Amino acid sequence: MARKILLIDDDRLQYRVTQAHFNVFQGERYDLEWAATYEEGLPKLLSGDYSACLLDYQLGERDGLQLIREAMAAGCRTPIVFLTAESAQRVDIEAMNAGALDYLVKGEITPRMVERSLRYALKLGETLEALRRLATRDKLTGLLNRREFDRIIEEERERAVRFGHTVALIMVDIDHFKSVNDTHGHPVGDVVLREVARRLASQVRTVDRVARFGGEEFGVILVHADRAAALEVANKLCVAVRRDPILAGETLPLNITISAGVAILPIDAPDEAGLLSRADKALYAAKVGGRDRAVAFGQA
Ligand code: GH3
Ligand code: MG
Ligand code: MG
Repeated sequence: MARKILLIDDDRLQYRVTQAHFNVFQGERYDLEWAATYEEGLPKLLSGDYSACLLDYQLGERDGLQLIREAMAAGCRTPIVFLTAESAQRVDIEAMNAGALDYLVKGEITPRMVERSLRYALKLGETLEALRRLATRDKLTGLLNRREFDRIIEEERERAVRFGHTVALIMVDIDHFKSVNDTHGHPVGDVVLREVARRLASQVRTVDRVARFGGEEFGVILVHADRAAALEVANKLCVAVRRDPILAGETLPLNITISAGVAILPIDAPDEAGLLSRADKALYAAKVGGRDRAVAFGQA
């Protein structure tokens, strides 16, 4: 199926011209779809249905620059090629600074140029996405890495303070994991880590975030969760890991368990560092209490 390209432009003639350009592309064929207004274009762009977007500067009351900024603030990852009527450099530079990957000056556009620019933006978009993944994900499990986790928990703390809600942290550590490695070898340990990660992630809503802290430790952020709710999720995590043995290669099915510690911001601690240390204390209590369980800070 052809990749879909979105054109956001208030001028029907520009749509017809662009379609004519698309018809004579020499390489990959794309499906062109048209949005005539800012209001129609933004949600389409944010839908994630399009491989790239051609975006006009002039869009009635508001302009394409504003649209880029609004899309970026909403987490848009779709590559944008900016179209500008004048060869005014300032607008081009502003568009690139706002997040456009390339720009074309309308009066000077040829089919070859649009084709080249789209191909370039699509390729650069893929490269950026791969880099973003490398920067934010743990390689072994695909979960968020520690750096991204720290960024998100800081963001959530600010939001929680502003809107007066709570953020829960569940800290998870696999029980006696060293003996899995020692008995079955490191590769089997890696399989267990991946499967535990998958089970943890499968238990939480998408707005919640699961990270690998490193080693066999994981962190889960829950927004709007109070102690009882977070403890309930933490217990579900324990069940999800305990319930079925993990099959790892040639070895016998392995019975793996985890321990979990829960802490709530701002009730148990006012900041991220405090929250981590309280959750860690609760986790320690879960270990001391016999492992394979969840404990909330202050409850032990
Ligand atoms: P406890 O129940 O008290 O948590 O005991 P434990 O054995 O799980 O705890 P400990 O912290 O002593 O051991 C953690 C082990 O995790 C040690 C290390 O070899 C292993 N480990 C850390 N990172 C990785 C990894 O990426 N892959 C594998 N296979 N093992 C890892
Ligand atoms: Mg550990
Ligand atoms: Mg452990």
